[in-house]
Amino acid sequence: MSLNIEDLARENVRALTPYQSARRLGGQGDVWLNANEFPLPVPFELSQQTLNRYPECQPKLVIERYAAYAGLQPENVLASRGADEGIELLMRAFCEPGKDAILFCPPTYGMYSVSAETIGIEYRTVPALDNWQLNLPAIADKLEGVKIVYLCSPNNPTGNLINPDDIRQLLDMTAGKALLVADEAYIEFCPEATLTSWLKDYPHLVVLRTLSKAFALAGLRCGFTLANKPVIDLLLKVIAPYPLATPVADVAAQALSEQGITLMREHVAQLNDNRSWLLTQLAQCACVEQTFASDTNYVLARFTDSPTVFKTLWDQGIILRDQNKNPGLSGCLRISIGTREECERVIAALQALSVEQA
Ligand SMILES: *Cc1c(COP(=O)(O)O)cnc(C)c1O
Repeated sequence: MSLNIEDLARENVRALTPYQSARRLGGQGDVWLNANEFPLPVPFELSQQTLNRYPECQPKLVIERYAAYAGLQPENVLASRGADEGIELLMRAFCEPGKDAILFCPPTYGMYSVSAETIGIEYRTVPALDNWQLNLPAIADKLEGVKIVYLCSPNNPTGNLINPDDIRQLLDMTAGKALLVADEAYIEFCPEATLTSWLKDYPHLVVLRTLSKAFALAGLRCGFTLANKPVIDLLLKVIAPYPLATPVADVAAQALSEQGITLMREHVAQLNDNRSWLLTQLAQCACVEQTFASDTNYVLARFTDSPTVFKTLWDQGIILRDQNKNPGLSGCLRISIGTREECERVIAALQALSVEQA
């Protein structure tokens, strides 16, 4: 009897297309501008020598420091293996597979659908408007049976913030029926836009955060879910017993020290500066059709011939993120903000291309 392993797998897993992470897509580059990482490593030293012991499930110092940083109480903070784990824990705690649904508004972050498909939860999409704001009437029409609405603000890959007035309306629409999850992975680049101060008024609001972007720690895998205590308590029921390894908690606590936060803010100021420079320069390149304002560490641009731009820069070791397959983003590439030198290399490559095409 021959056993087909593929047939043993769950049907939704057989049908699943895994998240196309920048790392999985590969490339031979020396200018990595495809994953919205911080361009330079920040050095840390491990201070704990207790690897014989299991770690704390929710490392106290990390939770206390993140709560202080976010202006909340420790009971409002859950630490997890990146914000990605937070996205999935919410579905596991709140959505019944085969019955409940989640909803999000493309073009947006890819993990909402990947997690839903993996767990076997229906996902509904309501495309964003042309200005990439919410289509509230269309969302209202599709809310029946929805347990979680994921909003990404500022949105990946478009870079814009969602109008706060629209978010308030959506909070009113979902009250008592569904969670509204605001993914704030990039909020450090526009900290005044955070929704954390709204948590006291909305028991169904959840905010996702990460150390992967502005804190320059994508390799650490540490993220946070911020919410009122009843939500956090439910997530604590489904989270793994030891989600953060001891070295992860060690480094996270250092990153969230006063010094660590000051350094992060300096980095953000530099990147915001580089972003303005890059946007100005992009607008002057002949091969660039349109640029989009951004409140993040990346910019989206539409090119006259994006496959050629992508491939030409790829061959020069400059790796960008192709957005052509994302709804509404044909001809678009996303460029992470690197060092000033890296931004200059992008522009030099695009200018050379424009000359060739002319
Ligand atoms: C990068 C990113 C995440 C994932 O963050 P991790 O903490 O690295 O898992 C979540 N949401 C959005 C919108 C992101 O861009």
